[in-house]
Amino acid sequence: LNEETYSWLKEQTAHPKTVAVGEIGLDYYWDKEPEVQAAQREWFVRQLALAGETDLPVIIHSRDAAEDTMRILKETGRFREHPGVIHCYSYSPEQAKEYVKMGYCIGVGGVVTFKNAKKLKQTVEQISLEHILLETDCPYMAPEPHRGTRNDSSNLSYVAARIAEIKGVSVQEVEQTTWENACRVFGVR
Ligand SMILES: [Zn+2]
Repeated sequence: LNEETYSWLKEQTAHPKTVAVGEIGLDYYWDKEPEVQAAQREWFVRQLALAGETDLPVIIHSRDAAEDTMRILKETGRFREHPGVIHCYSYSPEQAKEYVKMGYCIGVGGVVTFKNAKKLKQTVEQISLEHILLETDCPYMAPEPHRGTRNDSSNLSYVAARIAEIKGVSVQEVEQTTWENACRVFGVR
């Protein structure tokens, strides 16, 4: 980002089809250098302010940056009743519960179908269905049995089925509730 692209971003928030600001956030997996991480934090704060000014929810991307993401969202991100979604959630169930308390939804995708996805399974168990959004992260994270292939939304049924299994509810309930959650977060119907 720079001032020029930030202005472009700001203009896009006025587009009638814009329902959120995102993905925004921190990725320390790809950027390990302290100066680059500091720049990420600076722009993240600016983008959160933009979402606040325009009253739009946010879609948060956060990888290997649990502490800084939580701290920044606590400091600057609590600007509306349904502030947004922590997309492709990859941290602890404890932290998910903290995000839920702050009003956020937790984005759950194909990873939940993987055998080694212990933490995400525990997260789904421990938070209410009212705070879960389905997502693809297309073209990544195709669920089992299509793991490793190009992902798209036709695979969401596998994610819904796994969540239903974990929570002991019907697939229809997962579909209906996560649909309503998305409408609520993004203010669409
Ligand atoms: Zn992402």
